Amino acid sequence: MIIIDSHCHLGVSKLSGHSVSEGDLLNGMDTHGVDISLVMPHAVTDDPIAEHDEIAKLCRKYPQRFRGIVSLSPLWDEPDYRSEVERCIDELGFVAVKLNPMQHLTSPLMKNADKVFDSAADLGVPVIVHTGLGAPWALPALSIPQARRHPDLPIILAHAGFTVYTTEAYVAALECDNIYLEPSWCMIQEVKWLIRELGANRILFGSDLPENIPVELAKYKAAGLSDVDLAACLGRTAEQLFSL
Ligand SMILES: [Zn+2]
Repeated sequence: MIIIDSHCHLGVSKLSGHSVSEGDLLNGMDTHGVDISLVMPHAVTDDPIAEHDEIAKLCRKYPQRFRGIVSLSPLWDEPDYRSEVERCIDELGFVAVKLNPMQHLTSPLMKNADKVFDSAADLGVPVIVHTGLGAPWALPALSIPQARRHPDLPIILAHAGFTVYTTEAYVAALECDNIYLEPSWCMIQEVKWLIRELGANRILFGSDLPENIPVELAKYKAAGLSDVDLAACLGRTAEQLFSL
């Protein structure tokens, strides 16, 4: 069974000071049997272009194990934003674009967010939106209008509302077939409920932090899923969404 971690960071967050190294990522993956990790910079860094280059370097060093995700403030001017996203997707082979409403100072409803969803739709990759902490901008329902503007664009709600707003993430996914949920930091009964109600092909495993890999994996294992559903949540849903 292939295991894909759809939510990892590399580098140091300027906001929290939290730091994740190449060794931390590899150690977590090897210890817990993760095959492939999707890696993005922290939302707030001094130089996102340099951070993207670091991730590209990691992907070149371990081509079977890592893929990159773009994370860039939509406060950048449209041409600069678009050209960095294009560079990452077309030249560096990254597989998604991230929006963190609180840390990028842009809710999915703001005009500035359009460039995130439009670029991803044009380049044919999903958008990952952080949800939960940072409400009201990080409320899961705020991605519904973007999902309707781009019905063929997969939108993944990272943290699926972060427990407090998990029911709202569920409603968003119910309303829009192109919304998927990555329920890191949610409670076990919520993870179980989301899989039962929405189907395992709408849910994907993400850790957010290497220390959290075994915790998230334990939830899927404790959920009493069939082998097919477990394989979907742990890898197959991500494999399809990100064309891995
Ligand atoms: Zn994260």
